[in-house]
Amino acid sequence: MQYISTRNTEYQCSAAQAIAKGLAEDGGLLTPAFIPKLPANALETLKEMSYQQRAVYIIKLFLDDFSVKELTDYAAVYGAEKFSTPAVAPVREVTDDTYCLELWHGPTCAFKDMALQMLPHLLTASLEKLEERKTVCILVATSGDTGKGALEGFRDVPGTRILVFYPKDSVSAVQELQMLTQEGQNVGVCAVVGNFDDAQTGVKTLFSDVALRDELAQRGYFFSSANSINWGRILPQIVYYVSAYCDLLRDEKIVPGETVNICVPTGNFGNILSAYYAKQMGVPLGKFICASNSNNVLTDFLHTGVYNRNRTFYHTISPSMDILISSNLERLLLALTGESEQVKGYMTSLAESGQYQLEGKTLEKLQRNFVGYCCDDVRTREVIGEVYRTHDYLIDPHTAVAFDALAQYRRETGDAARAIVVSTASPFKFCDSALEALGEELLLPGLDSLDQLSEKTGMPIPKPLAELRGKAPRFDRVVEKDRMVDAVHEMLQ
Ligand SMILES: *Cc1c(COP(=O)(O)O)cnc(C)c1O
Repeated sequence: MQYISTRNTEYQCSAAQAIAKGLAEDGGLLTPAFIPKLPANALETLKEMSYQQRAVYIIKLFLDDFSVKELTDYAAVYGAEKFSTPAVAPVREVTDDTYCLELWHGPTCAFKDMALQMLPHLLTASLEKLEERKTVCILVATSGDTGKGALEGFRDVPGTRILVFYPKDSVSAVQELQMLTQEGQNVGVCAVVGNFDDAQTGVKTLFSDVALRDELAQRGYFFSSANSINWGRILPQIVYYVSAYCDLLRDEKIVPGETVNICVPTGNFGNILSAYYAKQMGVPLGKFICASNSNNVLTDFLHTGVYNRNRTFYHTISPSMDILISSNLERLLLALTGESEQVKGYMTSLAESGQYQLEGKTLEKLQRNFVGYCCDDVRTREVIGEVYRTHDYLIDPHTAVAFDALAQYRRETGDAARAIVVSTASPFKFCDSALEALGEELLLPGLDSLDQLSEKTGMPIPKPLAELRGKAPRFDRVVEKDRMVDAVHEMLQ
C-alpha cells in the first residue's frame, strides 16, 4: 500500500518510509492512499480472536511490507508483562446502552500505551527495511501522557534516542513524576516554559531546521516523531475500535450490523480519527461525538465549519486535551475533500491567520459523521461524582468530559443508539481532581494522594503508579520555548 502526503497526493512512499519519516517534507501528514475494507465475514472471524490476533489482522491490511510473523512478534507487547488485563482494552458495561472502552491498562496508565508500545517496533523494523544506519532521535512534545508513553516504549531500544518536551506548569503531579523518574540509557526529559502548543510548535521548528538536520546527520543522527502525526501512532489505535465492536458482538450486547456511536475525549484528534478509519474499513459505527474541555475549538468547528485557534487558552483538569491546534484534523480534511491542494490551502490559512473555514459538501460530510460538545472543569468534577455514585465507577477527568458530551448529545438529538465512551486514563493519574470530585477537602500532597484515593474508593493503585514511590527524579532541565534546541545539543553531545 502506498502512503501519500495530505498536502500533495502525488507524493508517494511505502509504509516503512511513512513510519520512519513521521512527517512529509512538505509539512503534510503521511496517510494511506486508501483505507482497506474488511472482508465480508471479518467481524465474525475477529470476534473469536484475542486482542493480539486482532491487532495482527488489522495492522497487516495497512502494512503489506511487514510479514504476519513480524507483526505477531510486535503484538506480544500487549501481553501480561505490560498490560494488567488479558483483554488488553476491555469494554465495561455501564448501562445497557452505554459502554466504556478502557484504554489505560498499559504500563503508563493512559491510552497512549496502546500505540506507543507498538510504535518502537514498527519504527525500528521500518529503519531496517530502509537500510538506515543512523541513530534515530525521537523528539516528542507532550501534553502529559504521550511523553511517558513514548519514554516507556522507546527505553533502551537499540538505535534510538528519545527526548521529551513538556509544558512546565500544565501536567499533573503524577504525570510529571512519571516522566522525571524515567529509566533508560537513551532517554531525556526537558520542561518548556509555555503551554503544550508552544512545545509542539517548538518541536515542529526543530524538525524543519535544515542546518540542525545537516549537523546531526554528520554526527550520525536523524530526527523522527512519536507524536500522533506519525502514522505508526494512528494505526494501532484503529485496532481497539474494531476490537470493542467485536467484544460487543461476541458478548451478544449488539446484533450483527447494529450501529454503535463512539464518544472520544479529544485533543490532537488522533484517537477519534482512528475511530473514523475503523468506520471506513466497514465497522458499523454511527456518529463520532467529539468531546472537548473549555478549549473548545473543535466544538465550534464542528458546529460552524470555522476552525479558529485565536482564542484564550485554558489550563484545565483534563490537561491532555488542552490543545488549540489539533494536528490530525489535517488527515480528516483529506478524507473529506480528497483534494490535497485544498488541504494545503486550509493549512496555509491556519498558519497565516490562525483560522480556516469549510463550506458546502465538505462541511456537510464532516457534520454527517462528527458532532462536538464541550464541558468545563466544574461540570467535569460533577460528572466524576455522578458516575461514581450512580454506577460505582470511578473515571478520570478526560473520560468525564466524554460522559458529559454523550449526555448532551443524547438530550439534544434523542439518538438512542448504543454508545461506547472511550476512557483514556486511569483516575489515579489525576488523583486530586478525582478526590475533589468525590468531596474530599483536604488533599494529601504528592504520591500520598494515591493512597488517599485508594482508601476512599477501595480501588487498588495501579502498579506502575504505586512503584513511583521511592524513585528519584533524574531530570531537571527547563528551557524557554525558543531555546529547545539547547536541550537537543545537550542530549546528543
Ligand atoms: C492524549 C490524550 C487525550 C487526547 O487524545 P488525542 O488523540 O490527542 O485526541 C485524551 N485523554 C487522555 C488521557 C490523553 O492522554
